[in-house]
Amino acid sequence: MMRIVLLGAPGSGKGTQAQRLQAKFGVPQISSGDLLRDAVKRQTELGMKAKAAMEAGQLVSDEIVLGLIRERLSQPDAANGFILDGFPRNSEQATALSSLLNDVGQPLEAVLLLDVKPAAVIARLASRRVCKSCSKVFSVSALPASGNCDNCGGELYQRSDDKEDVIAKRLEVYQSQTKPLIDHYKQLGLLRVVKGEGALDQITARMEAALAPPKPKAEPKPKAAPKAEKKPAVVAVETAPAKQPVKKAAKKKAAKTKAAVKTVAAKSAKKPAAKKSVKKVKKSAKKLKKQVKKSTKKVEKKATKQAKKAKKKK
Ligand code: ADP
Repeated sequence: MMRIVLLGAPGSGKGTQAQRLQAKFGVPQISSGDLLRDAVKRQTELGMKAKAAMEAGQLVSDEIVLGLIRERLSQPDAANGFILDGFPRNSEQATALSSLLNDVGQPLEAVLLLDVKPAAVIARLASRRVCKSCSKVFSVSALPASGNCDNCGGELYQRSDDKEDVIAKRLEVYQSQTKPLIDHYKQLGLLRVVKGEGALDQITARMEAALAPPKPKAEPKPKAAPKAEKKPAVVAVETAPAKQPVKKAAKKKAAKTKAAVKTVAAKSAKKPAAKKSVKKVKKSAKKLKKQVKKSTKKVEKKATKQAKKAKKKK
């Protein structure tokens, strides 16, 4: 199980490292930038809306990004964890993400910050080339001999927002909107800083070390072990006290439902009479799903409202 966020400036290597961690740990990289670029490429309604902001180096609206992320997180391959890359990118998105994950009892486990000097970041962005089909990242100084992607053979291109003037805007947006998340996650005890300069393998190794279980001193005493393993502190800090019982109850209910489904399914394999109970459990599972959906919608609504408010202020 691995539920992590990669934080860092554009060009800090989040995408490259996420791809490596994904292969190593078997959990998907979920890149908001890739999801958006895909929507633009497919010319979906959402993609059309996002295009202008992306080309200008601005953030796409929280509403659009949250919709994409929520849908992606609900795919089966994300059930065992995920590596979020490029999301969240402002405090509204961070809040929405934490609500979304806490509602399903799957809070974040760590936030890795890839720390890279601004000068290095600019150089990397300007020399970046990306595979059109699999999104693998290359540098012009180390392109495959074939000129094509060495992973899938796809065509390499320079992203339109990797042009100099747009790069500056993106860095500005990072400074003002995304950088504050470093403190946010530090306060929650989730932040781990990784030096993002040096050889790729070296950086990956640093990231793996940062993801290793906490040092002994942070480990709970034997007696308190079952409670402490759940890392409740993180959830507690980020969750409004009033909401806590509801979330806890939903979580408990989810576990109960899951267990009940299992038991009943096992029984029904032998006894056709258990059909009724299966129906009942299925119904309650459906209800639970609805609840999760409802609270997710609520979060989204709130995020949209906040975004609108922020826009008006500007
Ligand atoms: P980078 O991290 O190198 O800037 P990304 O591929 O993550 O590149 O993002 C490219 C662009 O997509 C951003 O400049 C922005 O316009 C948009 N974008 C990506 N993620 C988000 C997000 N979480 N919120 C808003 N806009 C986003």
